[in-house]
Amino acid sequence: MIIKQNLEEILETVAKGCTLIAVSKTHPAEKVMEAYACGQRVFGENKVQEMAAKYEILPKDIQWHLIGHLQSNKVKYIAPFVQLIHSIDSLKLLQEVDKQAKKFNRIIDCLLQIHVAQEETKFGFSQTEVMDFIKDPTLLNLQAVRIVGIMGMASFTENMDQVRSEFKSLKKLFEELKSMPLPENVVIKELSMGMSGDYKIAMEEGSTMVRVGSAIFGQRNYPTV
Ligand SMILES: *Cc1c(COP(=O)(O)O)cnc(C)c1O
Repeated sequence: MIIKQNLEEILETVAKGCTLIAVSKTHPAEKVMEAYACGQRVFGENKVQEMAAKYEILPKDIQWHLIGHLQSNKVKYIAPFVQLIHSIDSLKLLQEVDKQAKKFNRIIDCLLQIHVAQEETKFGFSQTEVMDFIKDPTLLNLQAVRIVGIMGMASFTENMDQVRSEFKSLKKLFEELKSMPLPENVVIKELSMGMSGDYKIAMEEGSTMVRVGSAIFGQRNYPTV
């Protein structure tokens, strides 16, 4: 019941043209089904094994988004079905996605993860790195991937002014990329930013995808080992 209520409340606030990704990581398949029963079809996971396991047992019209750090050697497990990979952070990874997508006769949509937060641990390209990356001629050889936008995470802080300014800089980068001459397989249209604590601010700043977990499913219980 609580999931239905949370989801309905959030959906009321989600802007038209913005996609709500229900982040179901650590929550069992039954919880995903509760959200599914309310009509939710887009789910996000941050671990390859967990996403693949849920894909196996859950309805096949669910769109699975990989939102967490992805290792090249694990791409093969999600390549047959993943709808969007939010966390491309290197050419090597993108090349592997391309290789695996070809095996399954698919074109896989990807977002480039951008590092805007203060924390050092976050993966992703800096703003200048992404500008160079997008101009890299080797991108043109990757015909089974399509870069459809960028993803970013704000700093983990109570300071909402800082969070907002990080979202603003992501939006600015998004617009800059859009206005650049781009290779054929780069079509910048998605700006994935905003989580449970900051998705409203992210939407105000122009987000097209929000990734909301705990505000829908409740607190996550991580195993202690
Ligand atoms: C877990 C996670 C989310 C959702 O976080 P909540 O705070 O629970 O909404 C969003 N994006 C990424 C990349 C995540 O790993």
